[in-house]
Amino acid sequence: MYSYKRIGSRYIVSIDNHTEIIGALSSFCNETRILSGAISGIGAVSEMTLRFFNPDTKAYEDKCFKEQMEIANLIGNISSLDDKVYLHIHVTAGRSDYSAVAGHLLSAVLNGASEFVIEDFGGRLRRNFSPDLGLNIYDFRQ
Ligand code: FE
Repeated sequence: MYSYKRIGSRYIVSIDNHTEIIGALSSFCNETRILSGAISGIGAVSEMTLRFFNPDTKAYEDKCFKEQMEIANLIGNISSLDDKVYLHIHVTAGRSDYSAVAGHLLSAVLNGASEFVIEDFGGRLRRNFSPDLGLNIYDFRQ
């Protein structure tokens, strides 16, 4: 599903072609027991589902893009919610006409190479659901 090399507190990760990115990154965090950290990456995908949070309805609106795209930027963080790995990742991806789509990344399937850097912060960072915001936000008291 992926291969990696650790250098200090950072992991260089290559996810296998035709693999779904969010599932692979979650498996990686579980395997390496990373409880908090930062993720950045680039790569090529053939399919991507983005979500847009509507603050008025407090609901996510999902949209699937099925076309070849180049991840120009993927950035996010690792924390935990209910003791499970929680990934919060945003992405900007370039289309064949050089326009870009961007948003909160729900899932994406690789079609080409991928190169990620994951930094392990070395401790637990928890989230809680905020009914006011409708979002899972950091809870630094835990
Ligand atoms: Fe988000």
